[in-house]
Amino acid sequence: MSHHWGYGKHNGPEHWHKDFPNAKGDRQSPVDFDTKAVLYDPSLKPLSVRYDQATSRRIVNNGHSFNVEFDDSQDKAVLEGGPLTGTYRLAHFHFHWGSSDGQGSEHSVDKKKYAAELHFVHWNTKYGDFGKAVQQPDGLAVLGIFLKIGDAKPGLQKVVDALGAIKTKGQSADFTNFDPRGLLPQNLASYWTYPGSLTTPPLQESVIWIVLKEPIAVSSEQVAKFRTLSFSAGGEPEDPMVDNWRPTQPLKGRQVRASFQ
Ligand SMILES: [Zn+2]
Repeated sequence: MSHHWGYGKHNGPEHWHKDFPNAKGDRQSPVDFDTKAVLYDPSLKPLSVRYDQATSRRIVNNGHSFNVEFDDSQDKAVLEGGPLTGTYRLAHFHFHWGSSDGQGSEHSVDKKKYAAELHFVHWNTKYGDFGKAVQQPDGLAVLGIFLKIGDAKPGLQKVVDALGAIKTKGQSADFTNFDPRGLLPQNLASYWTYPGSLTTPPLQESVIWIVLKEPIAVSSEQVAKFRTLSFSAGGEPEDPMVDNWRPTQPLKGRQVRASFQ
């Protein structure tokens, strides 16, 4: 394609394979969780989400979502346990969402889509940095959390209120002292896990996915604020940032495991 990848009719997920051959690989994400086909694995350990020392830095519109970035120069916010071996450091989080509340998540449960999905992206410290880790089959661990519509999530509001400063692609703003623990549900014990990929080009097959069963509730107004962002840069025609999710991909023999019955 002559233009950059995105989520539009002419550069969206159905076109990505032309520039990114990983798109047709054997461990692509997202996937549907068919609850009849997942395997309960009692050997899966409890997850350890240690975000108490997390240090947020910046929020940035990258033209396909917005990232809240963390200081990952030390073990400040880490994910361990569950299916993981070793320590994975939090680099950033971002969301995927819809043009309406009826769609927006990337993973689905028995084909049910949630209104949005939150991804906490971590890298395996044994590889030294994110760039090295993303090239390894166990280099990244993404903690996925579904968003359903309900009461407002107080822990999300600081994020929502920062979006006015990063409306267009390439804009960023300082975003310090944000506590990501306010975005977690109660139950961290019940999750699905499988080997997969990043869901944005170049779609590297380096992700151990951990998706929590319990969604968080956010208000319709909070998700509506996400839709006020633009895919496009300042000075270009406005292009509302909506439906920035990739459709589910074939399992190709992979087994999704569940930590719960
Ligand atoms: Zn994502």
